[in-house]
Amino acid sequence: MLVIMNPNATEQEIMRVAMFLESKGFEARISHGEVRTVVHAIGNIDVDKRDFELLSGVADVIKVSTDYKLAARVSQGQDTIVEINGIKFGDKYTGLIAGPCAIESYDQLDKTAQELSESNVKILRGGAFKPRTSPYAFQGLGDEGLKILRSVADNHGMAVTSEIMDASQLDLFMKYVDVLQIGARNMQNYNLLKEVGKIHKPVILKRGLAATFEEWLMSAEYIMAGGNGKVILCERGIRTFESYTRNTLDLSSIPVIKKLSHLPIIVDPSHGTGLRDKVEPMSRAAVAAGCDGLIIEVHYNPECALCDGAQSLYPWQYDLLYKQIKQIAPIVGKEIV
Ligand code: PEP
Ligand code: MN
Repeated sequence: MLVIMNPNATEQEIMRVAMFLESKGFEARISHGEVRTVVHAIGNIDVDKRDFELLSGVADVIKVSTDYKLAARVSQGQDTIVEINGIKFGDKYTGLIAGPCAIESYDQLDKTAQELSESNVKILRGGAFKPRTSPYAFQGLGDEGLKILRSVADNHGMAVTSEIMDASQLDLFMKYVDVLQIGARNMQNYNLLKEVGKIHKPVILKRGLAATFEEWLMSAEYIMAGGNGKVILCERGIRTFESYTRNTLDLSSIPVIKKLSHLPIIVDPSHGTGLRDKVEPMSRAAVAAGCDGLIIEVHYNPECALCDGAQSLYPWQYDLLYKQIKQIAPIVGKEIV
C-alpha cells in the first residue's frame, strides 16, 4: 500500500502516518520525491484504506495490486535514475557500458579500455568469475581479475561492473567493483539478492534465461526490500525454440517494463544474440525502443578472446555504433553522452 502525502504535508504529519502504519504491523518506508512524499507500507496486512485517507496531510492511498510493490510504477512519481561515474541510466538518459566478456590479463583489459576510452566509455565491464556451461571452460581470473579490473579502470578514469556469483564474494566486490552484476543464472538466487539489498552500490539485475516479467520484477523487489533502490534491469535474451541466435532478444521488455516499473532497463545485445554482426542492429533497435542503456561486449582482438569472442565487437565497430545510437536517441527523447 502507498500513502501519498499532500505536497505541503509537514514532517510531523508524515511521521504520524509512518507510526500509524507500524502500529498496524507494516514496515513504513518514507520516500521523498521532488513534489511529494510517499510512505510505502511494506507487508501483507489487510487494512481499511479509509483509516489512512482520513489522516491529516494524506492526499491519497493506493493499494498496489501487484506482488512487487517498491518496483511498481505506481510506487513513485518519477522514473528512477541511477548515476555511475557521471553516466545516467533512466528517465531521459541512455547510459553505455562496454568491455570484454572476461578479464584475461592486464594487457588484454588495458588495450581494450584504451580503445574504449577513445569512444567515451566511462563504465568498463569484465567478468572475473565466469558462470560457464562447462566446468572445463575458462572460469575467470577470480580475485586477481578484480584487481586488474580496478587498476585498469582507474588508469582510464572509468567505473567498473563485474558479475558476483555468490553472497560470500560481497566483501571482495565492495572493495573493487562500483556496480554489481547479477547474472541471468542467478536472477533467482534469493540469498544473493537479499545480500545485495543491504548495500548501497547499484546492481544490474539480468533477466533469467526463462523468467517472466513478473518473476524478474519480484527479484528486483528482493533487492529493494532490503533498502537498495539502485536496481538496473537488464534484458539479455530468453530461451526459445530458436537456436540460430544464442538467445531471443526480447526487446518488448523495454515498453513492458517501462509500463510496470519505474526502474531503468538496459539491454545486452551481446548475450541476446551471440553473434557479432547482430549486435549492432539490435543495439540500434533497443535505443529506438527507448531503452535506458546498453551493455556491450568489446574485445581489442575478439578472435583471441577466451570467452564469447564471436559476440564481441571490435573497438572500431563499437565506435561506429556509438556514433549511430547517439543520433538515434534524441528521436525518442533520450540522451547519450
Ligand atoms: C555476462 O554478462 O558475461 C554474462 C555471463 O551474462 P548473462 O548472465 O546474461 O549470461
Ligand atoms: Mn559473455
